Amino acid sequence: MNTFQNLGLNEDLLHAITDLGFEKPSEVQEKAIPILLNDETDLVALAQTGTGKTAAFGFPMLQKINIDSRTTQGLILSPTRELCLQITNEMKLYGKYCKGLNVVAVYGGSSITDQAREIKRGAQIIVATPGRMKDMISRKLVDISKIEYAVLDEADEMLNMGFYEDITDILSHSPEDKCTWLFSATMPKEVATIAKKFMENPQEITVGNKNESTSNVSHEYYLVNSRDRYQALKRLADANPDIFSVVFCRTKRDTQKVAENLIEDGYSAGALHGDLSQNQRDLVMNSFRKNQIQMLVATDVAARGIDVDDITHVINYQLPDEIETYTHRSGRTGRAGKTGVSMVIVSKSEVRKIKSIERIIKRQFDKKDIPDGADICEV
Ligand code: ADP
Ligand code: MG
Repeated sequence: MNTFQNLGLNEDLLHAITDLGFEKPSEVQEKAIPILLNDETDLVALAQTGTGKTAAFGFPMLQKINIDSRTTQGLILSPTRELCLQITNEMKLYGKYCKGLNVVAVYGGSSITDQAREIKRGAQIIVATPGRMKDMISRKLVDISKIEYAVLDEADEMLNMGFYEDITDILSHSPEDKCTWLFSATMPKEVATIAKKFMENPQEITVGNKNESTSNVSHEYYLVNSRDRYQALKRLADANPDIFSVVFCRTKRDTQKVAENLIEDGYSAGALHGDLSQNQRDLVMNSFRKNQIQMLVATDVAARGIDVDDITHVINYQLPDEIETYTHRSGRTGRAGKTGVSMVIVSKSEVRKIKSIERIIKRQFDKKDIPDGADICEV
């Protein structure tokens, strides 16, 4: 059996791993950690959400940097501020026994001077969103000219969100000979293009296949009249009283409206989207993490990468515009070996999209009826 010890991690990290309760490395960790520890190499790693990618690059980075130095040696780029904060917290947990370690999060919407001050105190590792990072570099508030390791986390999503130019700009301020580690759930040609552009003979690892990664998740769809969508959502919630769920809507406006309606109708819900202030977003995420709200109604961007354990259901209140996004949504549940259900509420005009999704995820949907929904189901 493979263990973290066998992968070559040091005592400080093993100690933290014990505290975290990680018993054995996940597949992506088992494959990536020895490579990143032993070879000064570029790496492309493909693995679905929930497979433990943060630790796969986090442990090796923590072990390889020189903590006695205050120079910034590692940069982790991630698509959203939620993810940026989450990775920062994870890195702090992983490095809790690495004395003198300073990991700083750099993201938009929060005070740039505070972030700059923290970096000035000496941050060996910076975790950043591309927009704010670029800004800080151009204002000379951060120096990445000596970094040795750059991670592009959720590379597919960063490119989807239009960060190609920011990433290019940022990396142009970093040394040529650093190691670049790219992690992604999928490998569209845009990702292949940046891999080519920023990397030299990268080693490649792929974990599982698309089937396997979602095999803990069952997929269901419910055909309803478009005007009955909200009724259908409530029936689904009623039928699953212990639901702990992310409900995906297509627009910020719908997200806000559905959450408000649910709350008004006595359900435990909250909204997460880009029009909320940072403070509001933090509040709702914290209550959700603490299981204080049962249904987090969210846009794709706001919910991207959120790692909350024990999500029982993902509800697609509306299907995403890009069907690939469905994989990211359903990946919110069925994590760490648990089972989960991904439900889609569809109208007749969208039902053909189910077929396209089935082709992409290589799984079949079950067609289900809304519980007690004789009055709202299409016949
Ligand atoms: P990804 O980035 O691939 O979506 P994360 O790094 O966010 O995945 O990890 C998903 C969850 O699994 C997190 O809660 C993390 O703490 C947990 N985890 C990571 N590695 C292990 C492990 N070896 N054993 C148990 N849990 C793990
Ligand atoms: Mg991740």
